[in-house]
Parts: sequence; structure tokens; C-alpha cells
Amino acid sequence: MPELPEVETVKQALLPVLENRRVLSAFVGRSNLRWPLPENLAKRLKNRVFTRLTRRGKYVLMHLDSGEVLLLHLGMSGSVRIYQQKPDLGQHDHFMLEMAPQIGQNYLSYVVLNDPRRFGWIDLFAESAILKHKLLAGMGPEPLSNKFSAAQLEAAFKGRSVSVKNALLNQTLIAGIGNIYANEALFLSGISPRRKAGTITGERANRLATAIVTTLRAAIEDGGTSLRDHVQPGGEIGYFVQRLAVYGQAGKPCPRCSSLIKTIIQSGRSSFYCSRCQR
Ligand code: ZN
Repeated sequence: MPELPEVETVKQALLPVLENRRVLSAFVGRSNLRWPLPENLAKRLKNRVFTRLTRRGKYVLMHLDSGEVLLLHLGMSGSVRIYQQKPDLGQHDHFMLEMAPQIGQNYLSYVVLNDPRRFGWIDLFAESAILKHKLLAGMGPEPLSNKFSAAQLEAAFKGRSVSVKNALLNQTLIAGIGNIYANEALFLSGISPRRKAGTITGERANRLATAIVTTLRAAIEDGGTSLRDHVQPGGEIGYFVQRLAVYGQAGKPCPRCSSLIKTIIQSGRSSFYCSRCQR
């Protein structure tokens, strides 16, 4: 499931294709994904120009010259492909934008959303309603922004008896982190996923906040590298081979101490950790 770094990579890949370019046409293949799609979506997008792209948590926000925002939620299995020639759409290609050429170029671009499980979503709403949007309202700070710090993390976790692992997944406390990067940041900080969130204070909060930023930045860097190395027109974007220390590594040696990585289930999701390095 795409988390902050994968979504950031998708945003970066979409930038040259969408920014300052006009929508020639939009194709909407169904009336719903995870939730119903906006009424008249294709009609409302036609001839609009994307002015800028941003990201909030796990969502790409594509701002339009109409004063509206097109929100992309990749869900569990959503992926984006970019083509320079009109592709034949498959069964799971639910949405496509046909983009006018960039200045100085003569080819169109096509952006296709593929989502076999349909847990993703697309929404279109007024920019002024961003803070009230159901997926964005109440979202915690961006971990790569200056609104995030060890002190802020400590305050957000204060008094919470849930595990720090589950607290990291709570989007109202911190934005964009999912199961992969929660596990990785906890390993890097030497903190057990079972530890109560409320005990993350002082030096521990420092270590965790630093590890979160380091982990996410390294993954974004990997995403950027994979874009440069692998994305050809028509290539899928947003998924890349992450360098993972513990996630999915149960039974393998810890990269730090060679003890075997353990796995436990917390709130229905697997946690991976080294019981020697993480306390
Ligand atoms: Zn270890």
C-alpha cells in the first residue's frame, strides 16, 4: 500500500505531465471507486489547467485553474501510468487524463489510474474546502515539514496507552506513515513497536522523530532514483524497491546485531522488529 514516499514519487512523476498543462479530455470508466466519483467529473476537468501539485499525507492534490483540487487516493492497489501515446485501457484502468503538449513539445501525454481492488478514489472539490475534506480534515502534521518535531511528536503521543506502532499509523497524530515505514522508523530508532506511545519522551522522542524523517527521506530518494532510472513513457510509477531493514524480514538476521527478526500482529497488522536492538 502506497505510503508518503510512494505518493511523493507519484507526485513528482506527474509534475511535468500536469503542471501548467491543459486537460484535453478526461475518461471516467465507472461511477464509483471506494466511494462514488464526483458528478460530471470528465466534463468539469475538460479544458482546465493544472496550476500546481502538492501532497498531503498519502494523497496527491492537483490544483486546477478553476479553483478546484483533484485529489488522488491510491488506496491499496492503485497505480499511475504515464504514456505519450493513447493507450488501450484495460479492465482495471478506471480514469485517464489526456493532456495537451508541454510548451516546446508536440506530443500529448496520458495519465492512467489503474486500481484492481478499487480501494482508491478520486475527488474534485473547491480548494477552499481542503481543510474540511473528509480525508484531510484533522490530519496530523507532515513529518517532512517544519510543523513536525520531537517535541510535537511527544505532545501528540502524551498519555496514550496504545502501542507506539499503532500511534504512528494514526493519521491524526502524524500524516503519511503506514505499516512499512512505521516498522522501519521504529527499527532505526531502537524502539520496540510494543512500547506504549505515551512513554516516547525526551531522548526517545528525539530518536524516533529523527528516524521518521531519515526513513522517509531515504525512501523518497530511492523513489526519485527509480523515476530517473526506470520510468519510460508508459512505465508505471510510484512503486520501487525499498531498502527495508525489518519490514517483511521475519526470520532473517537483524542488519545490526544478527539476531533473528521477529514478527507480531498489532491491531491486525504485522510488526517486524529485533527484540535485541529495539526496547
Ligand atoms: Zn538487532
